[in-house]
Amino acid sequence: MIIQYPSPTHGVRRLPVDMLLLHYTGMQTGPAALSRLCDPASKVSAHYLVEEDGRIFQLVDEHRRAHHAGAGYWRGEQDTNSRSIGIEIVNPGHEWGYRRFPGAQIRAVITLAQAIMSRHDISLVLGHSDIAPDRKTDPGELFPWDLLAENGIGIRPPVIAVAGRLLICENATGEAVMTAQDLLARIGYDSQQTGCWDRNSMINMTAFQRHFYPRRLDGLVDEGGWCALEKVAAI
Ligand SMILES: [Zn+2]
Repeated sequence: MIIQYPSPTHGVRRLPVDMLLLHYTGMQTGPAALSRLCDPASKVSAHYLVEEDGRIFQLVDEHRRAHHAGAGYWRGEQDTNSRSIGIEIVNPGHEWGYRRFPGAQIRAVITLAQAIMSRHDISLVLGHSDIAPDRKTDPGELFPWDLLAENGIGIRPPVIAVAGRLLICENATGEAVMTAQDLLARIGYDSQQTGCWDRNSMINMTAFQRHFYPRRLDGLVDEGGWCALEKVAAI
């Protein structure tokens, strides 16, 4: 059952829906997040909020544009709000005590995501940090992307046994750097082929790690991370 809990913050979509964007709330409690997402002064909203006990609240109609993504980029498109349906998943986040997502909550997210995907032609299931890696860390490295993928939602993070040696360090230059920057761009990140593993590359790689290779979160590329980049870019 979905609890209707309307937010006044929404507008007209300018693009067809092709993305499901997942967030954590990053606030101390679920009720605090719900209240903020329904406060016109906050200017933010989302289509759904999923509580830790699995209760689902609908705040905005799926046909309307909710304000959950902010400035971002994925495969050349910057108006993420117009192309996406946003789900806020209650978790205090990195600021207030990041913790594992309870089973009941994840089961509710899976059921909700499957229902949304049956109604729309969604080809992308991403985290907020994927489209805004310089500003956002949600839903974060504890989010069970593999479990969602098992249920037909999004890309399964590649299983890689060995991290291996470090291939790209901070400020590294050369052919490998160019290739890794190209792989990040092909996946969807706003990655330029500068030939130097600069701050922007580190930020993009950290977002990739959070979603697809949470063994390390430092923006550097080891052999396992390289393998993960190649596998995700090939999908
Ligand atoms: Zn978010």
